[in-house]
Amino acid sequence: MALKIWINDGLVDEKDAKVSVFDHGLLYGDGVFEGIRVYSSKVFELDAHLRRLYESAKVIRLNIGMTIGHLADAVKQTVKANNIVDGYIRLVVTRGVGCLGINPFVCEKSQVIIIADNIQLYPEELYEKGLRVISACTIRNHPLSLPPQVKSLNYLNNILAKIEAVDAGVPEAIMYNHMGFVAEASGDNVFILKDGVLCSPPIQAGSLEGVTRAVVMRLAAQEKIEVIEKNLTRFDLYVADEFFLTGTAAEVIGVVEIDGRQISDGKPGPVTKRLRKKFFDYANGRSK
Ligand code: PMP
Repeated sequence: MALKIWINDGLVDEKDAKVSVFDHGLLYGDGVFEGIRVYSSKVFELDAHLRRLYESAKVIRLNIGMTIGHLADAVKQTVKANNIVDGYIRLVVTRGVGCLGINPFVCEKSQVIIIADNIQLYPEELYEKGLRVISACTIRNHPLSLPPQVKSLNYLNNILAKIEAVDAGVPEAIMYNHMGFVAEASGDNVFILKDGVLCSPPIQAGSLEGVTRAVVMRLAAQEKIEVIEKNLTRFDLYVADEFFLTGTAAEVIGVVEIDGRQISDGKPGPVTKRLRKKFFDYANGRSK
């Protein structure tokens, strides 16, 4: 079925949803975006996603040209118009139409695009068995270049790491920062469990401030699991008792091997499974 897509002021038919070849989002990856889930017809953690979008836009001096409230309404209208019950929203704000030159301030007006559709998930089998991952050679962007907290349309840093994963025949790669500490996976945040304590690298180590990560930390605390943020090295990942990734698409997914080293007994651990279930219940409104 053809989708209804939001562009700037309202919904249009999919066939009419077009952008200019002079849009700086296309020419330079100049823009910001969000990937958001819909569970049981409800947009998941919309406030947190919009906050991150507006902060990313602020850092790159992009004026979204809509209030947060108006954009929230536009997202909800797009979900409703496409009858999405369990799906995915891609919210994109590009710098807009400019000329051939990188100066963003010649662009007339940012463009807001909202696509709501079904989502391609990892196969269920991978959740049961867990992921094999590698350490990427490509390091995460230095915070003084493009800050990793900005969810920009320029994902080449992550794409280079993903290419390394694909070349190695695994679905994900772990990225380290310029100091050698774990930053994140190419599209997910990292957690390990060691001696009963759940650890995730601090955002300042070079990751996106994941919405799923924040929810999982809250749910873990409810389960009386101690949660800390601390710098992790490759050593810490190799000797973890459990290892999992979090993200909008992946939710909570166990990692069972990194760089050929098996994690624990080679299966997603009990805490990973418990948090995955808890996350699912929360997302579908079955728990707070
Ligand atoms: N890191 C990166 C680089 C991402 O692209 C994402 C989103 N796919 C995440 C982490 C996870 O963030 P969230 O839980 O908000 O989806």
